[in-house]
Amino acid sequence: MRTSRRQFLQSASAALVGLSIKGGRPVAGTFVNDSFQMGHQLRDRKRFSQPKQVVKRAVVIIGGGIAGLSSAWRFHKNGFTDFVLLEMNDQPGGNSRWGENEITAYPWAAHYVPVPGPKTIYVRELFEDLGVLKNGQWEERYLCFTPQERLFLYGRWQEGIEPAIGLTPADRDQFRRLEDRIHEFRATGKFTVPMEIGVSDTTADLDRLSFADWLHAQRMDSRIVNWYMNYCCRDDYGAMTNNTSAWAGIQYFASREPEEKGPLT
Ligand SMILES: Cc1cc2nc3c(=O)[nH]c(=O)nc-3n(C[C@H](O)[C@H](O)[C@H](O)COP(=O)(O)OP(=O)(O)OC[C@H]3O[C@@H](n4cnc5c(N)ncnc54)[C@H](O)[C@@H]3O)c2cc1C
Repeated sequence: MRTSRRQFLQSASAALVGLSIKGGRPVAGTFVNDSFQMGHQLRDRKRFSQPKQVVKRAVVIIGGGIAGLSSAWRFHKNGFTDFVLLEMNDQPGGNSRWGENEITAYPWAAHYVPVPGPKTIYVRELFEDLGVLKNGQWEERYLCFTPQERLFLYGRWQEGIEPAIGLTPADRDQFRRLEDRIHEFRATGKFTVPMEIGVSDTTADLDRLSFADWLHAQRMDSRIVNWYMNYCCRDDYGAMTNNTSAWAGIQYFASREPEEKGPLT
């Protein structure tokens, strides 16, 4: 069943109320940076007020999320200034916006970046400009250290998110085979980020197949392997393995360095 945005918002509000009742104390909550009024104005073709000023620019960047901000950064760095960046919210950043309270700064959504590999030239350059990368070294304060993630499995905590306890020999064999396959894909360089370096027609077939079908074809039917793959697809793509292409499922792993430290936050 498809849920409309309205239904989702109603159930989210109901959940906040529900939490308050169970917890016995009110949970204060609201939606931030929600510019739906302006979106509705556009949708309903309502009239906007007349512009007070007309400015002509060679380039208009619409949206000050990380994509728009990166474009502006690149233009500016190359000495091109005949552009304007338009952001409809009060604060730029889009899904990477942040907030701050008396204790700490915190993200509203996006909050980590896998440590960019050596071929990720623009991201590394940006991080150099931001002081996150200095003389080839990642600034310690931006790196996350272990324990980063833990998993509660069979009544026990384990370090790391990849299931490691209670595995049968068949589960272990499948995890090992999966790792070998990912290693092979990584070695081809076709899953490297940025995508224009790696992407190639020879991996197009993987885009016509779901990740679930690919796993099945590889005889990787272990419940726990599939749980983990679903977790990863939900985390990065908001979808399960049957709604994620095999290319995207493999790219999740094969684009990352095998022994990467971090992530950066
Ligand atoms: C909950 C959550 C967690 C995430 N966590 C991570 C993470 O940890 N790591 C990671 O790498 N990625 C993460 N992501 C994904 C990441 O946030 C996005 O891929 C990325 O921020 C998208 O950037 P963008 O610039 O393309 O778009 P957006 O961030 O959506 O920015 C678009 C901007 O355009 C503005 N805009 C839209 N329409 C108009 C208009 N008509 N006029 C003017 N302005 C307009 C919006 O207000 C917004 O500021 C997460 C996403 C979410 C939702």
